[in-house]
Amino acid sequence: MEFIRIWKDVMVMRHPMAKYALFVILSIGYMGCSYTLPALVDSEPFLSYRLEMVDSNLNLVRVTGKVFGALDSKVPLRLPEKGNGRGLDPLGLKAFDMDGRPLDVKREGDFWTIENSGRDFTFSYEVVLTIEDRYAAEVRGMISLLEEDRGRIMGRDVFLIPAIRFGDGVTLDVSLGHEGPVHSTWECIDSRLIVPGVVDLATTLVVSGDYRVYETEVYGTRLTFAIAGKWSFSDDELFSVIRDVVSHEIGWFGSSTHKKHLFVCDTNPVKGGKGFDHYGVHFSGSILLLLDRRIDRSQIYDTPMSIVAHEFFHNWNGEAIRPASDGMMWFIEGATVYYSYRALTDINILTSLQYDMRMKLIRQRFMDNPYLESVSISSAANRDLSDKDMVNMLYDGGFLAAGIIDEKIAELSGGRKGLIDVIRYLRDSNPDGCLLDEDKLCEALIQVTGHDFKAFMGELVDTPAPLAIVSSEVSS
Ligand SMILES: [Zn+2]
Repeated sequence: MEFIRIWKDVMVMRHPMAKYALFVILSIGYMGCSYTLPALVDSEPFLSYRLEMVDSNLNLVRVTGKVFGALDSKVPLRLPEKGNGRGLDPLGLKAFDMDGRPLDVKREGDFWTIENSGRDFTFSYEVVLTIEDRYAAEVRGMISLLEEDRGRIMGRDVFLIPAIRFGDGVTLDVSLGHEGPVHSTWECIDSRLIVPGVVDLATTLVVSGDYRVYETEVYGTRLTFAIAGKWSFSDDELFSVIRDVVSHEIGWFGSSTHKKHLFVCDTNPVKGGKGFDHYGVHFSGSILLLLDRRIDRSQIYDTPMSIVAHEFFHNWNGEAIRPASDGMMWFIEGATVYYSYRALTDINILTSLQYDMRMKLIRQRFMDNPYLESVSISSAANRDLSDKDMVNMLYDGGFLAAGIIDEKIAELSGGRKGLIDVIRYLRDSNPDGCLLDEDKLCEALIQVTGHDFKAFMGELVDTPAPLAIVSSEVSS
């Protein structure tokens, strides 16, 4: 049960993130349209940031941005979407032209407009990265953490983002007062990293200071592992099992969605009460694992690997394939739960007996769900997700539905194909990203199996108490 409860917490965190990533992409696209773009393509504006520690006692960090290129007379800066935590609060925002002359800054709601008269400019502000109360639900979403010996920065906690179109490659220099290079999912050279695009800023995770860092390569993808502090397990024990899970999942697709993945293992600062002991989040190519220091050596195979298997699968199902609406969250989460279990079973972290027991538990909880007769699996994500039973309807139902679709595909193809082939098809046929709706899923199912799943799917996910699940429960 512990396993399930923790997993639920991880999933609840994940759901708003998927929407968040989508929001960033949509809002950048929208902003791009609402401001006149410069005519000269070869001088597309570019952007660089510098992050430096101003006062380590107050955890006060200064952010300086430089904006160059063919600019409009006014450039708006906007807040990044704040996830489900406390948002960024920029202190003392100022802007200057390149000769050091101050520029007017006007605030309108969540926008600060720089009156730069078409000139290049710099802007700077300060951010406090101290979290007074790690127990409060609202701060859980704040991922940044500064300690004397090390620092972790999450883009959305620090960056005000100019809402204009930029050329590729945002340089970021990080100087938090720690020795040694910084690490990120992006290319790093000493204390500098190159973030591929402005859309990637908010989800960029950077660590610096006292982390032990390991690297390996799987199917041409680099895996970087950064771990801090003392644990009951050795660094290599955890990293080798992460590598097994991750290489199994990359093996399903033949390649990863990123050139490099960063795994960060650190202490979970949220403890006790209704808090959770272990917690994982996935941003772009990074996975942050926050574990309880007291974790026993054998326990790394349990929750931490479930988090890794689940979050890593979201690289494909969740990031490369995104839900067109909340109505598809059952597939994003359900198929991800399903395949994270499969990965753990395939590499013998879970025995098939353990898998069967968990599956029965989930099916039983689905049957006992008070919304069984009134809410369909696909509509659960449109309802109140602060209600635990509704969350269970989404995840348990999504998981069971994914399993049934996988079985059906296997049955139709004489065991040669499965749902993974459909997910791979969706990824491969949409190299620029797939916005998934039910029609697109059915189309992919036809391509892979030659069969029309529309009616089957409607009965399974769009109808409360679907027979395919309810009747199979009776026989088990
Ligand atoms: Zn998830």
